[in-house]
Amino acid sequence: MRAAVLHGPGELRIERVADPEPGPGEVLVHVEAATTSGTDVKMWRRGHPVLPPYPARFGHETAGTREDSGERVLVGDSLACGECRPCRAGRPQICRSPRWILGGFAEAIAAPEAVLHRVPDWLEPAGAAMAEPLAAALHAVGRAPARRLAPDAGVLGGGPMGQMLAALLVADGRTVTVADRHEERRAQAEALGAMASRSLADHDVVFEAVGRPDAWRAAVQACAPGGCVVFVGGCAAGTDARLPTRPLHYDEVDLRGSFHHAPVEVDRALALLADGSVGWRALAAGPIGLEQLAAALGAGNDGPARKWVVEPR
Ligand SMILES: [Zn+2]
Repeated sequence: MRAAVLHGPGELRIERVADPEPGPGEVLVHVEAATTSGTDVKMWRRGHPVLPPYPARFGHETAGTREDSGERVLVGDSLACGECRPCRAGRPQICRSPRWILGGFAEAIAAPEAVLHRVPDWLEPAGAAMAEPLAAALHAVGRAPARRLAPDAGVLGGGPMGQMLAALLVADGRTVTVADRHEERRAQAEALGAMASRSLADHDVVFEAVGRPDAWRAAVQACAPGGCVVFVGGCAAGTDARLPTRPLHYDEVDLRGSFHHAPVEVDRALALLADGSVGWRALAAGPIGLEQLAAALGAGNDGPARKWVVEPR
């Protein structure tokens, strides 16, 4: 079969590789669609903590068909150990020794049966693949105070994650403002029912969806007294963000991290995509084949928020 293989930072090749051999408890899944994310761009450009040693497969938003049963599935991208302290506390998204399931940018992938989620019949593969990031957005909203306590939400960053957060917050009945310097992304946010601006100020809750230290600082400064900041965007490894102490102390601003998602949130995301509660087509670009993947990842971060739909087969 054909697969996208990383051989080093910036070095992506489309190669013929052996068909995956499912191990015990694993299933072969034929990939129908895999969507790109900011994490894929990081993995391709500079490597990533969860990327295995080179040569490495990647792609972690993957929908396809089980070879054994023909059932349509989303391939979850992680399997928590179930035994560590966070797992025992019911927080599998911060498992200390998760197994990452990467390799969606390929014609097929072997995955543990335990990470497969059934896709509703009427949801297309590209939409199903986007349940992975939407589950992370759901998790982030769940980390914030409830609407009653935080009716006015700001979202810093209008990329795909910012747009998904905005869609969920609007559906939750909150007043939402998305800040982004790109006009196209502000227009996308407005189409979701959010307001849009170039910056944020005085929100009950602020979601940081950029992943840079300056944005982390701006998110704290945009939070109202007594409010909460949820950090969704991961900064580069080893990054320190110098945060202003005044709002943390005198204004009792709460800071909460949000990472990844739990399996139950993936099922909720699939249901929201299937019943149209959250749209996905406005974020979809392509479809493209594996040969166009490197160009798509390198296309840059300007213009509208978009996720490339890769159809490897
Ligand atoms: Zn664990």
